[in-house]
Amino acid sequence: MGEVMITAGNGFEGYDITDYIGFVNVQTVVGSNFYKEFAANITDLSENENEKLTAKLEALNESMIEKLKKSVERRKANALIGMSLNYTQFSGNNFGVIISGTAVNIKKQEIKDKFISKELYVSNYYNRLVPRPVRVRLDALNKDVTISVEYYNYNQDDIRAIRADVELTNLYEEKLLIKNLDFSFERGNVTQIESNPVECKLPAKDIMLLKDAKVTISKYVTSRGVFAVNDNPINVEMPLHRLASLKEKRGIDAVCKYVTDGMIWTCNCGYVNEAGTDECVVCGRKQDDMKSTSKFNPDEMIDKMRTKEYVIEIKDVLMEYIKEIDNEYRMELLEIMESGLQYEKTRGNMKETVIEKVEKVFEGH
Ligand SMILES: [Zn+2]
Repeated sequence: MGEVMITAGNGFEGYDITDYIGFVNVQTVVGSNFYKEFAANITDLSENENEKLTAKLEALNESMIEKLKKSVERRKANALIGMSLNYTQFSGNNFGVIISGTAVNIKKQEIKDKFISKELYVSNYYNRLVPRPVRVRLDALNKDVTISVEYYNYNQDDIRAIRADVELTNLYEEKLLIKNLDFSFERGNVTQIESNPVECKLPAKDIMLLKDAKVTISKYVTSRGVFAVNDNPINVEMPLHRLASLKEKRGIDAVCKYVTDGMIWTCNCGYVNEAGTDECVVCGRKQDDMKSTSKFNPDEMIDKMRTKEYVIEIKDVLMEYIKEIDNEYRMELLEIMESGLQYEKTRGNMKETVIEKVEKVFEGH
């Protein structure tokens, strides 16, 4: 056991108290001579006497502290907190000195690493065979922040390096542009490649405030050479929470809902294909697969809702379609119906308001 630590306070900086062992005290009775000297006005004493008295007091103090430490050790403790010193006067000019405190066990605090991490879907994209940035990851270990980007590498080129700018947006809509980050890869010849982390100067406390990331590639290197990218990436049009749910269902590279006008069709990956092609030129998704999973037509449902009069009937229409509707919309639609039903009891017909809200849910899709 190391040296017993003592304080008049209730703890030690950098240490945790692990057990409270109990009260300890040591007492010494000091004789009358000492008391006389002690009680005398110090300034009246000669230089010599003063020194002698100080030395005596120090010796007394030290021996009591030593005893106190021993009694702490006897209690199998390693520290004493709340030390106090008291004097008690006895008869015949004798007086007692009592030093007491609480014996405790203390343990040095471990310096814990603080790790936080944030992942953001990239909300812009390239619709050609450029390595496609799909997810940005920020890790903060204490104050050191690193950024890494996951890319979709559709044709499994051997990607060696990517130089890109990353624009981050926080919840206050404040933007931060980090230019010319050089990302490297352990293994670049697979479909999904994750870069090695790159240091970035962003303060660690800011990363939890981030909500959006856009990545603009300027150059990339494959085993075939260096390629410059002059295309401007396209911004994803849907709100971020919709993008997240689209990616969960259609794959991390998904950036668009499947749409077609008979002439062309837009793939989940964002590439616009000719009507005659069955498979997307960029990602290889089959048009038929996307068609079958998005057969639900909100306009048809909304038209049917318009033929009804009350929210209770409109809700019945919704329930006919509910199984075909994407999970991401279901809760929102049911909530619209419930609040419509509630309001209709007190405010009269809510048909128009409810249908307007339903239309808003599907806007832009
Ligand atoms: Zn595609």
